[in-house]
Parts: sequence; C-alpha cells; structure tokens
Amino acid sequence: MANVAFIGLGNMGGPMAANLVKAGHKVTAFDLVAASRDQAKSDGAAIADGSAAAVKGAEIVITMLPAGRHVLGVWNEVIPAMGKGTLIIDCSTIDVESAKQAHALAAKHGMASIDAPVSGGTGGAKGATLTFMCGGEDKAFAVASPVLENMGKKIVYCGGAGAGQAAKICNNMILGISMIAVGEAFALAEKLGLSHQALFDVASTSSGQCWSLTTYCPVPGPVPTSPANNGYKPGFASNLMVKDLTLAQDAAKAAGAVTPLGKHAQELYKAFDASGHGGVDFSGIIQHVRGLAPK
Ligand code: NAD
Repeated sequence: MANVAFIGLGNMGGPMAANLVKAGHKVTAFDLVAASRDQAKSDGAAIADGSAAAVKGAEIVITMLPAGRHVLGVWNEVIPAMGKGTLIIDCSTIDVESAKQAHALAAKHGMASIDAPVSGGTGGAKGATLTFMCGGEDKAFAVASPVLENMGKKIVYCGGAGAGQAAKICNNMILGISMIAVGEAFALAEKLGLSHQALFDVASTSSGQCWSLTTYCPVPGPVPTSPANNGYKPGFASNLMVKDLTLAQDAAKAAGAVTPLGKHAQELYKAFDASGHGGVDFSGIIQHVRGLAPK
C-alpha cells in the first residue's frame, strides 16, 4: 500500500479518494472547498493545509480537477514539493495540449507522470468501476496501474504523453454524436407513429445498435435504468458534454482533423445548455431535437 496525495475532491475525486482509503492506502487530501475536505476526512483521509503540504512524503500524487489551467496551476505548485521518484497522475478531463505541458513539467523535475482521464461518471467513481485511459511512459503506467485498479475496473494503456486525453475526447465525441443520432431516430419514429419499444426492439438487435441506445436509451421504458426514466437527472450533465465536445473541436483544429459531426454535435449541446438545460443529463438532447420540428 502506498502514501497517496489526492487533490480535487469534487463529485468524482471525493469518492475516488474514499476508494483508495478503503483499499488500504494512506491518503492525504486537499480541496479548496471546505465541505469536500470534511467529507474526505469522514471517509478516512488525512487533510492537508494546501496542495503542496498534501504531497509531502507521498509516493503517488493524483489530481482530479475541472480543466487544464487548474491542473497546470496545481502541478506547478506541487511538483517542486514532491520527493524524488514520486509519480504524478492526472485523472481530470483536460485539453491534450495542457496534458502534454503537464508531462513536460514533471519530466523537467525528474518525476514520472501519467494522464489518466476516466469514463464511468459519478456512479463509476463511487462503485470503483471507472475506466482509466492512460498516456505516458510505460514504466510510469506500470506503477500507476495497481493504484488505478483500486478505483476502476478497466485500465487501458493508450500510448505516450496525452494519449489518455486523446482517447477520452475521441470516445466522448462518438458518444455525443451517437446520442443525437438515437434521439433523432426516436423523434422521427414518434412522428411516424412507431412505438418507442418497437424501434428499440429492432434497432437494439440490428445495425443501429450502440451504447446510447442499449444502455442509455433517451426515452423512458425500454432501458429502465437510463436517466430518461428519472426526469433526465444526470448521469452525465449536458454541460460536461459541451466541455468534452469543445475539447475535441480544439484538438481537431490543432491537429488539422475535420470532424463535421463533432462540430454540429457541439453546437446542438451548446444550444441545449444555453436554453437552461446544462444540468440536465446529456440524453435529454432528444427534447431539443424534438423542439427543432416546425410547430
Ligand atoms: P467538480 O467540480 O465536482 O470537482 C472539481 C474539484 O476540484 C472541486 O471540488 C474544486 O473545489 C477542486 N479544485 C479546483 N481547483 C482546485 C485547486 N487549485 N486546488 C484544489 N482543489 C481544486 O468536478 P468533477 O465532476 O469531480 O470532475 C472532475 C474532472 O473529471 C473534470 O475534469 C471532469 O470533466 C471529469 N469527469 C467528470 C465526470 C462526471 O460525471 N462528473 C465524468 C468523467 C470525467
């Protein structure tokens, strides 16, 4: 078991740190928000006065923060305070460029680093069933992997620095687009007088089959556990989908890739968000799609 510093104890980081405590690691944690620190304390973590204090004596440092600028800010603060040979892992979803800068910063100070964004949402964070997508040197991945296994059920090595973030945004671009496609199909079926269940029964066993349909069906009924059955309570909020599709568009621009459906999906989720639905599960985009029909 390791001495682990955990910085960023929000909706994801809080339960992830709690799972490390449960697995027997000695966790020292910090967040800017007092309520998150209090929760981590009651979950069994030691609370430090700040990020730099949290990493003293740690063998592994984990960050779970909102965006690239937060990660670079915290890494700039903690790396000089870390002992030699410490591994630093960022599990946040951030832009590929910031992830590469973070790796370069760690390398400059002789520290090993991994970018390891997750999929699986808050349920996966609580249940320790997250998927981790990892980028960095394979030696660093070998050290990170057993600790990540205490917070997730699938740990995938994707390649060099930033490859985890690249995998995350490509995956979520598929997800954002496919959820709109499934929503459009149900909206069309409604106009054609085809029942939700009939479309589901056909498409879920035909070539239209995908996760957005069979696990996360955007209409109530066919998949009782999907957010559509619970007033579109997230789940995965639409504003987080906007964030990930924007990261995908930024990466596409920087890399010279053309992603017309990714761009259109970003615009649709942005419009849904702007109409006051940012906190609604992203599968609620079907409501926006229905609303585009002429009255
Ligand atoms: P969150 O806003 O709930 O938590 C982020 C935490 O970071 C907050 O508690 C905040 O106080 C803390 N923080 C910010 N700056 C800090 C600093 N300088 N020092 C210490 N703490 C600081 O967000 P979340 O939902 O936990 O998501 C975290 C990351 O995981 C994001 O990058 C998000 O995109 C990604 N993610 C979220 C989900 C999800 O379903 N919520 C799913 C997959 C990935």
